[in-house]
Amino acid sequence: MRVLVVEDDPMIGEAVVAGLGADGYAVDWVRDGRAAELSVDTHTYAVVLLDLGLPMRDGIDTLKSLRARKVDVPVLIITARDTVADRIAGLDAGADDYLVKPFDLDELSARVRALLRRAAGRAEPVLSHGSVTLNPATHEVRLEGRPIELSAREFALLLALAERAGSVVSRAQLEEKLYGWNEPVGSNAIEVHIHNLRKKLGEALIRNVRGLGYKLD
Ligand code: CA
Repeated sequence: MRVLVVEDDPMIGEAVVAGLGADGYAVDWVRDGRAAELSVDTHTYAVVLLDLGLPMRDGIDTLKSLRARKVDVPVLIITARDTVADRIAGLDAGADDYLVKPFDLDELSARVRALLRRAAGRAEPVLSHGSVTLNPATHEVRLEGRPIELSAREFALLLALAERAGSVVSRAQLEEKLYGWNEPVGSNAIEVHIHNLRKKLGEALIRNVRGLGYKLD
């Protein structure tokens, strides 16, 4: 899952990027409202974390402009503006959630997971597909009840396929979800992860759809 962090405070930005990176997200970080709009226009994000007090363009204006252009990415506002009026203004401008600084990184992670669940149209926190279950909160994967060790990228790839089970996900879409700007993608990186997932979870789980991509079967 690829996440955009829009935050001009270097300490908070670094902490959030590190925290979400440790959770296995591919994280892009920009420091002003204009760069945020440009990023959202050129990449597909699962969630945007948006500060309000930003250079170039205020967070609320940035959000309104995204929504006016029908960009439907889930937006979680992260801000020091803590009045009830601020929260209402943020949510009514099109935010999906609102978190006041200083916040706990574990709470931020849980809110991101909740937004991802809703965006994927599900309410249950654990995904299951056939005999495989995945828990995005704990990164636990089980096959017929037995725990299976996956790397962070393998987990992210499996989650990306499970979120769209039954549909084909292209290699380009998987690369976009798994890797941020600062991470070079090897030409066969996705194939290698797929190969490892099949070894750990069974050859039949992930189907190759020739010329199109992969799907969970
Ligand atoms: Ca700020």
